[in-house]
Amino acid sequence: PLGPAVKVDVTEIAKPYREEVRAAIHDRYGGVGPKLVAFLANTDPYARQYAEWTGRACEADGIRYELRIINENELEQKLYEANEDASVHGILIYYPVFGFFPSFYGGSMDDYLRDSVSFKKDVEGLSFTYRFNLYRNIRFMDAATSAPARGPELKCLLPCTALSVVKILESIGGYDLSLPVGERMTGKTVSIINRSEIVGRPLGALLANDGADIYSVDIDSIYHFRRGQLLQTSETPESAVRRSDVIVCGVPVKDYKLPTAWVKPGAIVVNVASYKNVEEEALLQVPGVKFVPLVGKVTIAMLERNLMRLFAQYHAEAAP
Ligand code: NAD
Repeated sequence: PLGPAVKVDVTEIAKPYREEVRAAIHDRYGGVGPKLVAFLANTDPYARQYAEWTGRACEADGIRYELRIINENELEQKLYEANEDASVHGILIYYPVFGFFPSFYGGSMDDYLRDSVSFKKDVEGLSFTYRFNLYRNIRFMDAATSAPARGPELKCLLPCTALSVVKILESIGGYDLSLPVGERMTGKTVSIINRSEIVGRPLGALLANDGADIYSVDIDSIYHFRRGQLLQTSETPESAVRRSDVIVCGVPVKDYKLPTAWVKPGAIVVNVASYKNVEEEALLQVPGVKFVPLVGKVTIAMLERNLMRLFAQYHAEAAP
């Protein structure tokens, strides 16, 4: 029998990752952490708030965080300069920059910017190289790209929002930890309502690499991912969600609400959008449901972790 629904606060899930970062900066780098430069070139209050949270977390953990508030037309040049600047070890851009809801969340100029961040500084793991490797399930840089490789230890980075959802699922029972790595989502059905290259598609790829069946729901289509393959399906968003053990909502629209009647008892529901995509009160009446209202704290922890990996792989030896 299933117990009552619970609302999951992810603060505790982020903690060990942040402690690891803190310990590495203290033990390995003499207390001087890598430098992360974040560009804020929009007036989105959500981005502003996220920038502040990121800054606070980084400072608490020993990372040198520098927020650069600039105009959107300066961003491309400033980004190239930061790519070249040896004292900068990680770069973050708050999106959307060009194009703003409700016209479009981001758009092609934002895609270009994302791909222009040097792979040696791309803490978000969203540039083409990392997405390409993820979609092909390639784990190491030197196996696949022209990136200068020092050896097989050069790991690919993973997109941090998607990775945060994986870490959350691992810690709240979404993964079967008794199965071998790479199989731990076998037999699970997941619906992801969002197919952007920031959130939905990388997340679908990660979970599919771990064996899940993914229904990827966009505003006008639905696909089925299995391992590296993207298949057509006759499911509808409703039929897919009704079968799902895990439902991830990332719809950047205020009035989008996942119909609670579609959520099966015992399902895990994760809200990654900046809007609340669920009818919370009703959802918390569904037996056994685990509802994760916010993932940002774990995303920031993953961002810090990615920065540490970049620092160790590409910068530490030469760092001032
Ligand atoms: P996006 O605009 O690039 O993508 C939105 C996706 O939702 C698209 O696939 C779109 O087709 C789909 N969609 C829109 N309306 C829909 C509907 N009615 N039904 C089904 N699908 C619909 O946005 P994005 O960059 O992926 O960001 C999505 C949300 O996630 C935003 O609210 C953003 O702020 C948030 N976000 C959160 C984090 C985090 O760490 N918490 C990180 C990145 C983005």
